[in-house]
Amino acid sequence: MEKAEVVIVGGGIAGLTAAVYAARAGKRTVVIEKQQRLGGRAVTNEKNGVSFNLGGHALYDSDAMATFRDMGLTLRGKKPSIDAHGIWKGKLHVLPTGPASLLTTPLIGLRGKIEFGAWLTKLGRMNPSDFDGISLREWVEGNVKDPMVRHVFYSLLRTTSYVMAPDLQTAGPVLRQFKAALQGVLYVDEGWGSIVRELEQTASKLGVRFLTKSKAVEVNHEDGAVRFVRCEDGTLIMADAVILAAPPAAAHEMVPHAEATSLRVWKEQAIEVTVACLDVALRKLPKPKQQFVYGIDQPVFLTDQSRAARLSKNGEHVVCVIKYQGADSDPADDLRELEGTLDLVQPGWRDELAAKQFLPRIAVCGDFPHVKRREQPGPAVPEIAGLYVAGDWASHGEILVDASTASAKRAVSHLLARSKGIGRTANNEHRVVI
Ligand SMILES: Cc1cc2nc3c(=O)[nH]c(=O)nc-3n(C[C@H](O)[C@H](O)[C@H](O)COP(=O)(O)OP(=O)(O)OC[C@H]3O[C@@H](n4cnc5c(N)ncnc54)[C@H](O)[C@@H]3O)c2cc1C
Repeated sequence: MEKAEVVIVGGGIAGLTAAVYAARAGKRTVVIEKQQRLGGRAVTNEKNGVSFNLGGHALYDSDAMATFRDMGLTLRGKKPSIDAHGIWKGKLHVLPTGPASLLTTPLIGLRGKIEFGAWLTKLGRMNPSDFDGISLREWVEGNVKDPMVRHVFYSLLRTTSYVMAPDLQTAGPVLRQFKAALQGVLYVDEGWGSIVRELEQTASKLGVRFLTKSKAVEVNHEDGAVRFVRCEDGTLIMADAVILAAPPAAAHEMVPHAEATSLRVWKEQAIEVTVACLDVALRKLPKPKQQFVYGIDQPVFLTDQSRAARLSKNGEHVVCVIKYQGADSDPADDLRELEGTLDLVQPGWRDELAAKQFLPRIAVCGDFPHVKRREQPGPAVPEIAGLYVAGDWASHGEILVDASTASAKRAVSHLLARSKGIGRTANNEHRVVI
């Protein structure tokens, strides 16, 4: 039986980040990933010389970017222009994103323009943490007066967080992300797969061992402490510590008697966010000025990622269209809506099509900060010594990939503290009850 100090289940951004930090601290680390390739939802698919992320991916100037830089990643790419349009009542209009577009947009009346202009400066000074205790709906309705400005805010904040549930979503985290977005986001050359590649190389150089195409099926524990991880093919790896960097339901399933632990609470409170994505590579853009479009009365978003990132060998534009889904969705309806959005924004796009990818229903994140949460997940599973969680669902106020990197670092710092015997036992490892 192999022996490792740290076993990480899941080779997405959270698992890879945890692997680098654990190995940097000198821990003998193994990553178990059930897919053939590493990266989870940050993989990039290559098709006819075009790099397709799984839907549009923007890196905010937040935890993940800082963490990637700390790990020595190069992060090649550029900030896209934020000149935007909005879809309102089936038509495209200039969307206010700065003083010039605010003056010209026909979307908002004079009073709304004055209010929106004030917000452009107020947002920079605002402390989003002041709104950690209320829903996004409460924040918008209580702070934004003009009805059209409200619509625009809902649309911008939905796009920032991917979440279409203003009554559930906690206002603070999404406002924090929005403030970060105002500094500009990074569209990454060759897609997020290049981040995954660099993470894998960094981890490998530090001695991390990867087991891909290997599904973990049991995290064995005895007398309140982890012992080993068992894979579907029978591989067993003894471990001092295990980080579950897989989605909450998968994490719950792997741990015997998980129903008696916090893993059950975290699984039950998690609200998965899904979208439908149509990614297309176009030889040229029929409407070059329409590369960034928010749906205002429609839950859609379109961005040409190649206006800032190198994503194709032959200069095709890689355009992503996203539909935010609720609980019920129909793939055929969603595809029609996505294609309809492209028809509106880039009429004639079918004649320029070089490659495409349709994802009918993909999880953007496993959970997000919302008002029904009873506990912040992790970093430690308090009932089982040496067991930790990480992933975009294990957020303590971060969202999307920032939650993946932040939770991975929390898990590693807690396991390092435990391995040095700093004040942790099986039953008091960590618990934040909201
Ligand atoms: C369409 C779309 C758009 C997005 N846009 C953005 C964006 O603009 N900005 C942003 O910050 N984020 C964005 N995201 C979110 C971002 O991609 C994710 O938050 C991040 O990649 C999640 O990483 P993770 O490691 O937490 O989870 P995952 O990537 O899901 O990794 C979990 C890994 O665990 C593995 N696994 C599961 N069970 C087992 C098992 N039993 N044994 C072994 N392995 C297992 C899985 O195969 C997977 O590789 C987007 C996501 C999508 C889908």
